[in-house]
Amino acid sequence: MMKAIKGVKDLLPEETPRWRLIEDTAKRWATRYGFQEIRIPIFEATTLFARSIGATTDIVEKEMYTFADRDGTSLTLRPEGTAGTVRAFLEHNRVADPRPQKYYYLGPMFRHERPQAGRLRQFHQFGVESFGISDPRADVEVMSLLWRLLSDLALPGLTLEINNLGFAEDRALYKPILVAFLQGVERRLCGNCQRRIETNPLRVLDCKVPECRQATEDAPRLADSLSQAARDHFDRVTTGLNGIGIPFHLNHRLVRGLDYYCLTAFEVTCSHLGAQNAVGAGGRYDGLVEQLGGAAVPAVGFAVGLERIALMLPQELSLSAVPRVYVAAFGSQAADVGFALLDELRRAGIHGDMDFRAASLKAHLRQADRLGALYSVLLGDDEVAKGSATIRNMQTKEQENFLLSDLRSNLLARLSARP
Ligand code: ATP
Ligand code: MG
Repeated sequence: MMKAIKGVKDLLPEETPRWRLIEDTAKRWATRYGFQEIRIPIFEATTLFARSIGATTDIVEKEMYTFADRDGTSLTLRPEGTAGTVRAFLEHNRVADPRPQKYYYLGPMFRHERPQAGRLRQFHQFGVESFGISDPRADVEVMSLLWRLLSDLALPGLTLEINNLGFAEDRALYKPILVAFLQGVERRLCGNCQRRIETNPLRVLDCKVPECRQATEDAPRLADSLSQAARDHFDRVTTGLNGIGIPFHLNHRLVRGLDYYCLTAFEVTCSHLGAQNAVGAGGRYDGLVEQLGGAAVPAVGFAVGLERIALMLPQELSLSAVPRVYVAAFGSQAADVGFALLDELRRAGIHGDMDFRAASLKAHLRQADRLGALYSVLLGDDEVAKGSATIRNMQTKEQENFLLSDLRSNLLARLSARP
């Protein structure tokens, strides 16, 4: 038997209503906040991701799905949405448009990671990017969008954590201070972090290994190396969050995996998710557009993982395609008349269905029950001869006979009287 690739999941009809709820909620909130949808390609030149995400990040070091095109060009399935959005922003010269450039995207991302609960190789993200605005209110705006949409979904146990990463120059000042400290505790760090001292020392701070956490408990803090400008920006961000009542916690260990962040970095975690507890994350990335060959355009955004949101939603959301009317047509002539009637009802906007395998009234009614239909139209050859049919209320089992020509309007009236 053929099987799906490891770490790649099917979403069966029992699950898709939950996904649609998430997607619809995300789109509704994004639209309310003035973000417009952008659809970017699933694959791009590998160099785009290598140049934007950063060579020493987990993603670029070991998680990318990279393959050679037929002409030898190296391509990569997108591991995240920011790089492609920035590329599109530049390619279509959106810098020249004086209106705020605020985009949202939704779709699959690909990372070669060890599959486990909440961690897949093909997963889905909803994300937003706000270009051109360095005002701290843009940071507050994207964080509040994220918070409002997750709250709307009534997800339990959420926390918004934020940190100030400062400017690249601030981090350049801080790095040697941190490296000196880390070298002193090197033996207590995990193998990964021992390597990171050289390659990406800040990442040691948000390593999840308990020994690394202990060893860095007293590490000098980035906050103490920040410039006045970085502090001012962050103060206005926290004041802004307070001003609109968005609760947050300062987390000085939060550094984010990607190289392109500066100033504000944030993450939303959920206490109900176990080890993979990050629902979404983002931050300011003022240097990225320039790094990819554009002008110096400030930007801020986030991405949330839809799988992790889906894990937190109640399981019992029902199927979305429940027929309101089931046409139980049995007998040779009635089958054809019933099929035409079904088509007429559907064209009238009624969600109608029929199981073509059922041959007897009993079999039809059983299927109508299984499908959860509100009404059935019972139609045998006798009724067809008389030009009539019976409407059965599937809950009360009450039945009433009508002329075939009156069925549609009668059903429409009955359905419009129900929720
Ligand atoms: P993590 O710490 O879980 O590895 P990350 O820092 O790699 O997350 P981001 O690149 O910031 O994650 O992506 C934002 C969100 O996308 C995450 O918070 C998570 O919800 C989701 N996500 C990331 N990787 C995966 C994955 N492999 N499977 C499912 N969801 C993922
Ligand atoms: Mg990751």
